[in-house]
Amino acid sequence: MFLGHYGVGLASKKIEPRASLGTYTLAAVFLDLLWPVFLLTGLEHVKIDPGNTVLTPLNFYDYPYSHSLLMSIVWSLLFGGIYYLIKKNKKTSIILGLCVFSHWILDFIVHRADLPLAPGIETFFGLGLWNSLPATLIVELFIFLGGAYLYLRTTKAKDKIGNFSLWGFVLLLLAIYAMNLFSGTLPPNTNALAFSALGQWLFVAWAYWIDKHRIIIDDK
Ligand SMILES: [Zn+2]
Repeated sequence: MFLGHYGVGLASKKIEPRASLGTYTLAAVFLDLLWPVFLLTGLEHVKIDPGNTVLTPLNFYDYPYSHSLLMSIVWSLLFGGIYYLIKKNKKTSIILGLCVFSHWILDFIVHRADLPLAPGIETFFGLGLWNSLPATLIVELFIFLGGAYLYLRTTKAKDKIGNFSLWGFVLLLLAIYAMNLFSGTLPPNTNALAFSALGQWLFVAWAYWIDKHRIIIDDK
């Protein structure tokens, strides 16, 4: 899943507007931000394998530290816990922890059964929605556009940047998603894949930038 994770980040702002969209995006995409780092350090592995599912040409055969159920719970607790230590805000910390964990749930829906239970344990989960293009598109777009709608309803632009940055973010993510799906080009090797996946960190910085230029709508 790609767009859906960003949708969760956007929607979270509606539930608890006090944290930045940047922090919510960091949380919702967190496992996919760790993944390229673990690939490049040789801790995890992936194989370029066209046709692995209809939607992805990747065989995620070894990613227990970023994407196992157990480690996802650990990352969620760490994320929420560290936020709590810094900000002392229990509600936001819990929502951020849930955001991190939502990543695993959404990946569980789309991935074939390749999500491990825990490092070293050969039990795998995944419902394989990626085998259906229409079903995947419906789910991804519903979550992403729904999230964008909620974020738009919760905040308003403080200045021009507050508008352009948000629309740019939404449109660029949609364009990247469409390109990945329909361009038919494969990454030349797994290192190139990992470096392009690192680009997702830029969207976290971008989300902080958007949030700085928008204010919460006070609808009381
Ligand atoms: Zn993921």
